[in-house]
Amino acid sequence: MEKKIALIPGDGIGPDIVREGTRVLDAVAAKFNHKFSYENVDAGGVAIDKYGEPLPEKSLKTCLASDAVLLGAVGGPKWDNVPGNLRPEKALLGLRGGMKVFANLRPAVMFKQLSAACPLKDEIVGAGLDILIVRELTGGIYFGERGRNAENTEAWDTERYTKPEIQRILKIGFESAMKRKNKLCVVDKANILESSRLWREVAQEMAPAYPSVDLSFMYVDNAAMQLVRNPGQFDVIATSNMFGDILSDEASQITGSIGMLASASLGDGTGPGLYEPIHGSAPDIAGKDLANPLATILSCAMLLRYDFGLEEEARCIEKAVDKVLDEGWRTRDIAGSDFEKLEAAGKIVGTKKMGDLVIKAIND
Ligand code: NAD
Repeated sequence: MEKKIALIPGDGIGPDIVREGTRVLDAVAAKFNHKFSYENVDAGGVAIDKYGEPLPEKSLKTCLASDAVLLGAVGGPKWDNVPGNLRPEKALLGLRGGMKVFANLRPAVMFKQLSAACPLKDEIVGAGLDILIVRELTGGIYFGERGRNAENTEAWDTERYTKPEIQRILKIGFESAMKRKNKLCVVDKANILESSRLWREVAQEMAPAYPSVDLSFMYVDNAAMQLVRNPGQFDVIATSNMFGDILSDEASQITGSIGMLASASLGDGTGPGLYEPIHGSAPDIAGKDLANPLATILSCAMLLRYDFGLEEEARCIEKAVDKVLDEGWRTRDIAGSDFEKLEAAGKIVGTKKMGDLVIKAIND
């Protein structure tokens, strides 16, 4: 298979981790006989410095003309005082809008090897944690009508969803559940919000087309509580933009390892998806060979699975990561309280070495 991938290294540790992601993709391409070509794209702070704007039109065009987009991270203290509309993070909104990616898929996985980093008690996480949060990304209150009255004493934001918007995100929710444990929980606030009641109606209308999926509903306040009380009950959670924003951060924190979590933002399948680690640009460790590249490497696995339909290749990456962790290799951020012991044993590695280890495991 021949595919073109747009790379957005971005700022901070972005270039370090995207480099490891592409090395891993190359290893997979060599092993499975594919050809991936890459085009570098400027976005974020680096684009502000070069072109005076966070997402030049040319950058978006290159992304749209590719088969998939891999993003490192954008932002950093250097650009903290630029005007709001020119902030590096504007590149993310521009990419999501321009690429029409309306579904954000965030797996919250607790790696058994890293269970010590999970802030929840053993009896709560039990056998582990493996939740997929499907968040609506381009609608709802973040994009709804907003304003203030003339006296500046009142402000409003509007939660608004159309039936087609709900259908397309729930379709991804149902289909994702079918590829996992066949459980879909739609999280809403249907006891109060009319828009949530429409989400429920649409989910119920769609359910007969997915007979193997066990559909349930939960109010968002309860879901926030259940995630820390009994996270093992969830398989796929589908929810609106704002609820998803909050719950996906909560779910990722309870895994205890931000440097491990990948994400995919998908559209209707006619254009490329956007793949990125969930963490930021970590300016404190940029360029020091300290960044954990695994979230980016696992984002590459999602890219192969969702954009190219290469399931075996995606699993090959995931298994390689698992093997490297099983062998006890750690970057600093995931060493936890074992750091000194691991360092003495020579098991603490930097960004590049971690990439090397994953590539070796792919080839083993
Ligand atoms: P951050 O995720 O960059 O860093 C939080 C902490 O986690 C830091 O101590 C950092 O060193 C550590 N960390 C993060 N990723 C790591 C990795 N891969 N390996 C090892 N350690 C890692 O969050 P922040 O400090 O709040 O934000 C820094 C900058 O990133 C800000 O400018 C912010 O706006 C931006 N940001 C960008 C994105 C994105 O591009 N998607 C997301 C979040 C934040």
